[in-house]
Amino acid sequence: MAHRKPANRELRLTGTVASGGLVAGQVVCLDRPDGTQQPAPVQTPAQEKTVLDRAVSAAVSDLRALVAGLDDEEAAGIVEFQIAMLEDETVVEPAHGAIRTGTAAAPAWAVAMAGLIDDYETASDDYFRARTADLADIRDRVMRHLGAMRETPIRPGSVVICDNLAPTRFLETDWSGSGIVLYAGSACAHVAMLARSRGTAMLVGVGHGDHPRGGVALIDTENRCVIFNPGATTVNDFERRRAAGLARAQADRRFLDRPAKTADGTRVEVHLNISQPEELDSLDPAHCDGIGLVRTEFLFRGERLPDEETQLACYARMVKWAGGRPVTIRTLDAGGDKPVAGLTLEGESNPFLGVRGFRLSRRHEKIFKTQLRALLRAAALGPVGIMIPMITVPQEMDAARRLLNEARGELAVRGVSYGNTALGMMVEVPAAALCIDRFTADFYSIGSNDLAQYVMACGRDNPHLDELMEGHPGVLRELVERVCAHAGASGRQASICGDMAGDRQAIPMLLEAGLRCLSVPPAALAPTKAAIARHGGRKSGAGADD
Ligand code: PEP
Ligand code: MG
Repeated sequence: MAHRKPANRELRLTGTVASGGLVAGQVVCLDRPDGTQQPAPVQTPAQEKTVLDRAVSAAVSDLRALVAGLDDEEAAGIVEFQIAMLEDETVVEPAHGAIRTGTAAAPAWAVAMAGLIDDYETASDDYFRARTADLADIRDRVMRHLGAMRETPIRPGSVVICDNLAPTRFLETDWSGSGIVLYAGSACAHVAMLARSRGTAMLVGVGHGDHPRGGVALIDTENRCVIFNPGATTVNDFERRRAAGLARAQADRRFLDRPAKTADGTRVEVHLNISQPEELDSLDPAHCDGIGLVRTEFLFRGERLPDEETQLACYARMVKWAGGRPVTIRTLDAGGDKPVAGLTLEGESNPFLGVRGFRLSRRHEKIFKTQLRALLRAAALGPVGIMIPMITVPQEMDAARRLLNEARGELAVRGVSYGNTALGMMVEVPAAALCIDRFTADFYSIGSNDLAQYVMACGRDNPHLDELMEGHPGVLRELVERVCAHAGASGRQASICGDMAGDRQAIPMLLEAGLRCLSVPPAALAPTKAAIARHGGRKSGAGADD
């Protein structure tokens, strides 16, 4: 990529927020030096082969050390995939072949990996395409051990800018006071998920525009932008907001260990959204009323589909953590922005409008019932609610209930004990929200992320539509009110587990629309409780009121 000499004027690039935060730091551009341009003196093929094999072994040792220090199963899975690739003879063999014909180790490795990356990049299977970044990462790690590539250091207080950041690089770096800006990338990528769970500010999709390659930059996720060469007025405004944000975060923390109540004393339940079980390790169950959403997609990212015992162990861990508080676990919501290799359909023209969520589970009854059996067994250990994603018509809930009954029957035949479970639905398709009184469910949980994208016809991953997406507050309120009214009239609980639940600007509207149960990501727990406490609470709600 060619860059002109930076002009010394303020420049803003806008993108999508993958992880919120305000960071001021030194610009660090992570460029990819091309190893093939730095040939080392060629030795004999036997010596070059030894050089390459040593570099590959050193890369494997790095990765083993990295994985040993991780307590996060998903991150460990990413690193273990890389180790398996480096230990796979068929990955290294093309480079060995080039070395036998007289090529030096570094160019042989670079060219062989370029071929493999190209194969993965152009594969029709989403799974392989998603692994391209891992292959680029192992290519570079071996190149560094070959002395053909240097790694740019990332010091605390940096604004790191690059095309895509490898998850391993993320895990190896101390991100204190630093943030990340990606030219491309997606808020749903592995590295974005890691940034969110560790609270590192991250902006993605700012495009490949010309920008200064040094000096100071500000990551301002409140305004979805990165600002290069910020002027005095911009810096003053940024610092004021940063100081206010820190003060607010400190004030919000006071609400963490109290039950949430509005200013006029209305009790509001605040639950947690969890995307992987390790998130619970650093959290105190006493700070929440339960787990309102477990996104079980993390179980389906490995090489093999998880069996009943693997799933049970994972759900049991959450139920144990919750200590008697309700745990709502969503069945697999694959498809859309969350493809699962071998399960989701290839080549759908619009995966968000395709075979995703329950539409996919229905086509794979065996896999769905394995999950249901594991959930039923976990329910013997504590209160578990089963939540079905992407319900569009009432018949789908009927089908889900039939399959749940079959799963119960299968456990009974095996003599395995299981518990009672409520069967609820996500309300995230406008058709379901509009006709909610036709659906038989034990509880309703509003998925505002999808509901908003479907009702506004704005892709949730499209940064160009952010403004439009937020430009019509009335329409969502209308749908939330409708769901709350039906839940209240039928004596069931309505809650919300989309990102809107943890948005302090949206919370007054959600409470006024009648919601009394919000489920939010861990980082939003204290701010949500604080926003509830600051609200007057004007209208009585459905379900969880006391
Ligand atoms: C939602 O759509 O609001 C939701 C909670 O589900 P997800 O973000 O996992 O699609
Ligand atoms: Mg959804």
